[in-house]
Amino acid sequence: MQKPKPKNQTRRAALALRRGGKSVKPRPRPVRGRSVYTPGEVHEMFRRFSVQRPEPEGELVSVNAFTLLVAVVLSAQATDVGVNKATRPLFAVADTPQKMLALGLEKVGDYIRTIGLWRNKAKNVIALSETLIRDHGGKVPDDRDALVKLPGVGRKTANVVLNTAFGHPTMAVDTHILRLGNRLGLAPGNTPEKVEEQLLKVIPAEYLRHAHHWLILHGRYVCKARKPECERCIIADICKAAVKTSAIPAPLVEWAPLGDGADQ
Ligand code: SF4
Repeated sequence: MQKPKPKNQTRRAALALRRGGKSVKPRPRPVRGRSVYTPGEVHEMFRRFSVQRPEPEGELVSVNAFTLLVAVVLSAQATDVGVNKATRPLFAVADTPQKMLALGLEKVGDYIRTIGLWRNKAKNVIALSETLIRDHGGKVPDDRDALVKLPGVGRKTANVVLNTAFGHPTMAVDTHILRLGNRLGLAPGNTPEKVEEQLLKVIPAEYLRHAHHWLILHGRYVCKARKPECERCIIADICKAAVKTSAIPAPLVEWAPLGDGADQ
């Protein structure tokens, strides 16, 4: 007759025991779409981010809404540093849709040749400049539906432009935010849309305006993809990530970056 299982024994622990191994403590698994943090914990996380970076900024160089839009379109599968190298001279000669169109496909391609997928991106930059002139009087629209209709512009790009150029509390989920949402259990979800939806629900309204920049910068410089640097993390005591290696928070001081996209 089969022995009855102890009441609280999970399948994983039972398997380990059957194989003669030690009983393993089951890791709390975030329920998809539900944060594992209390509202108080989330508030404290973002309070600390706001002290560390009172005025966070994206690292893509731009001089107006149009150049920001172009920079974000060019940044897909490319680094901000690499995009900035190409766009500084480009934006010096073409900072409006009219000037970009006048420059033409071939010359735009020459400027951005160092960026991955440059041929397709050059076509998109010309096509979106044409659309902006034809449908929006040469201005970048402050409207998500209109933005996502532009060539090469998806939801993430639209969210960055709405947030950075127009001040909307949007959440542009990139690879860093998707990872953090799941790793930390802050906003578990298998698609950027699910993580975005959950983050918009759990982050206190007062912190939403800058939240996407704080999370991107935290993911880029501290909670890195391959090896999170928990000993440098200001939320290490709050974090519930299974991979965390320290529970002692780093001192809460203002971040002082070394330069153009450089790490500390
Ligand atoms: S403690 Fe580690 S895993 Fe948690 S947020 Fe900080 S760096 Fe990431």
